[in-house]
Amino acid sequence: MNRFEDFPLVEPILRAVREEGYERPTPIQHQTIRLATEGRDILGCAQTGTGKTAAFALPILQRLQAAPPPVPRHVRVLVLSPTRELTSQIGDSFARYGRHTALRCTTVFGGVGQEPQERALRGGVDILIATPGRLLDLMRQRIARLDRVEILVLDEADRMLDMGFIHDVRRIISALPKKRQTLFFSATLPRDIMSLAQDILIDPIHVEVTPPTTTVEKIVQSLYCLEKREKFALLARLLKDPQMRRVLVFTRTKRAANKLAEHLNRERLHADAIHGNKGQTAREKALDDFKRGACRVLVATDIASRGIDVDDVTHVINFDLPDVPENYVHRIGRTARAGAGGAAITFCSTDEREELAAVERLIGMAIPQRDVPHGFIRAVLPPLPIGHATPSRPHGSSHHAAPRGSYARRRRHRRR
Ligand code: AMP
Repeated sequence: MNRFEDFPLVEPILRAVREEGYERPTPIQHQTIRLATEGRDILGCAQTGTGKTAAFALPILQRLQAAPPPVPRHVRVLVLSPTRELTSQIGDSFARYGRHTALRCTTVFGGVGQEPQERALRGGVDILIATPGRLLDLMRQRIARLDRVEILVLDEADRMLDMGFIHDVRRIISALPKKRQTLFFSATLPRDIMSLAQDILIDPIHVEVTPPTTTVEKIVQSLYCLEKREKFALLARLLKDPQMRRVLVFTRTKRAANKLAEHLNRERLHADAIHGNKGQTAREKALDDFKRGACRVLVATDIASRGIDVDDVTHVINFDLPDVPENYVHRIGRTARAGAGGAAITFCSTDEREELAAVERLIGMAIPQRDVPHGFIRAVLPPLPIGHATPSRPHGSSHHAAPRGSYARRRRHRRR
């Protein structure tokens, strides 16, 4: 099954796929398209960039066009997506893949006037792609009616939960017919996502793909082993290097991202944070400032970083190691885009050794270690971000008392 022609797709859809220049199905398409056209529920673990949109859009278009459009038209497919950008992208994809069919799709999202969306809905659409907040508004006003939806897609479900949409999502789903097909996509499958999936999917097919790790070799990777409380001072020191023109810093939590950006600003190292708790406008502004070079440092969490598509990130700094090793590859892939050189610097504190080992196993190499510069810790450190402030020694020894670099030495020893 290595060609689109082998799937049960009608010629108008195949033609659009050819016009897109797609020669072969990607792995997620390979695993999903046939089963989805047969009406199966899907639980897909895949990121953007894997061809996931076509993996659900093509079978949906196939299923809809197999039956004549109802008169009057009503929403038969609902796609829920976390952000305005992703909603627009999915809308564009449906429009392109469906351009030789008579199916109609529209997008609704907040932050813009409601009237054009209202007009489109009243005119009758088959496929509705929406962010949860605006959709709920339109449902309450009885402008969006979902009682005859046949297929539901949840895209980037983990990001949707991270942004606090869980109640909205559940409310919307409760307004849909119970008998329907559900296609559920998420880049990660933590417990809360699995519990939502279990509630809304029936006997789903599990599909999993990870993006290729090709960029890793092109990136100069380095590692600093240090104590947790030293991380901020080292970061501030590294950021003094003018070669760090556009730097993406990763923390594990939203709270740490905020605190870190605050501390950097206090040190006059202009930084902004981007994560799921920030509103759409704040996120867009932070990204735009970063792209324009108005803000040199962007602190991000793994989930929020997925929307970041900036070409010349000079450095990625892993202030914290990721919980999921694959995210290391996603993170550092943000630099060295389009063949440009890039650098990835990782901080690893004593309590993150397991995470580091998991990353090194995944990438099949030990990240070259650098010595922490001498004397970089100032006499008084600013209070560190929550989650990074706890001294790793239980008895509250001051950072001066701790033998600095002891962990680094231990690690070197271990490697020999
Ligand atoms: P997505 O993961 O849906 O955001 O898709 C990522 C990119 O891959 C988009 O630019 C798609 O146009 C492109 N794409 C999707 N499927 C294929 C395919 N089978 N062959 C080549 N490119 C594809």
